[in-house]
Amino acid sequence: MLTKSALYVVATPIGNLRDISLRAMDVLASVDVVAAEHVNTVRYLLASHSIAAKIITLHQHNEATVSNKIVAMLADKKTVALVTDAGTPGISDPGAILVNQVRRHGYQVIPIPGANAAVCALSAAGITNPHFLFYGFLPNKSAGRKRALDALKSLPYALIFYEAPHRILACVSDLVEVFGEQRQITIARELTKVFETFHVCKLGDALNWIQADSNQQKGEFVLLLSGATAVSNPEISDESQYTLKLLLGELPLKQAVKLAAEITGNNKNKLYKLALSFKADKEY
Ligand code: SAM
Repeated sequence: MLTKSALYVVATPIGNLRDISLRAMDVLASVDVVAAEHVNTVRYLLASHSIAAKIITLHQHNEATVSNKIVAMLADKKTVALVTDAGTPGISDPGAILVNQVRRHGYQVIPIPGANAAVCALSAAGITNPHFLFYGFLPNKSAGRKRALDALKSLPYALIFYEAPHRILACVSDLVEVFGEQRQITIARELTKVFETFHVCKLGDALNWIQADSNQQKGEFVLLLSGATAVSNPEISDESQYTLKLLLGELPLKQAVKLAAEITGNNKNKLYKLALSFKADKEY
């Protein structure tokens, strides 16, 4: 049973058409109108679940105008669902203008959660840092991109970017230039699709890996970078340092170092020295 005069913000799959919730399907099958970026994309999704719907287009170039039309529909006691081509509306996608407009007119906005490429990538990246910053798309041109990256360089959070296939090499090349070769990158490509790939490496090795196989330059990308650590130690990756800190917080120093060496594969003596410096700096 839907709420009258409400806008439903509905997440759709990011590849695999079955990654849609039962609730999302109920809503899409019951609303009066579905607003979507591309009619054909949503029609294909709906048809695969045997749902028929009246569809109107809402994309970044007409969002303000169509928002007014949707508010008029809500005033007429209709229900409307907003979807985008993939994933969660409003996340590097249209949605925010419509949501604000609907709320400003006193109507309810109801989110129907589901797939999101950033969270999907993060969930399987194995990044131990509990904090992350979702950036989305970086500027298209190298100068702007490097300026944006420079501002993120010293943040102690994992960083998550979206990138298009035609910019992947240029983007990774700028990442190496700004962050250096030692930061860990996770390249998550074609999530939930046939050629889904996760590749974890140091930034210094990432370009070679992508260039070695042109297939790795195709499709959709989420790039995840480890965050900055206070101690700059080029021999021990940020992720390994983070693991060591976590263990030091829970175990006596020697035991933490031994376990960290086993987990990360780093030299025990080097980890021991690093642990002592963390202890001296009260970093755990
Ligand atoms: N709203 C979407 C979400 O919730 O993730 C994001 C839409 S944004 C226009 C599209 C970008 O998301 C792509 O360029 C890519 O960076 C990322 N993306 C979407 N689907 C993906 C997938 N299946 N695998 C990897 N990245 C994906």
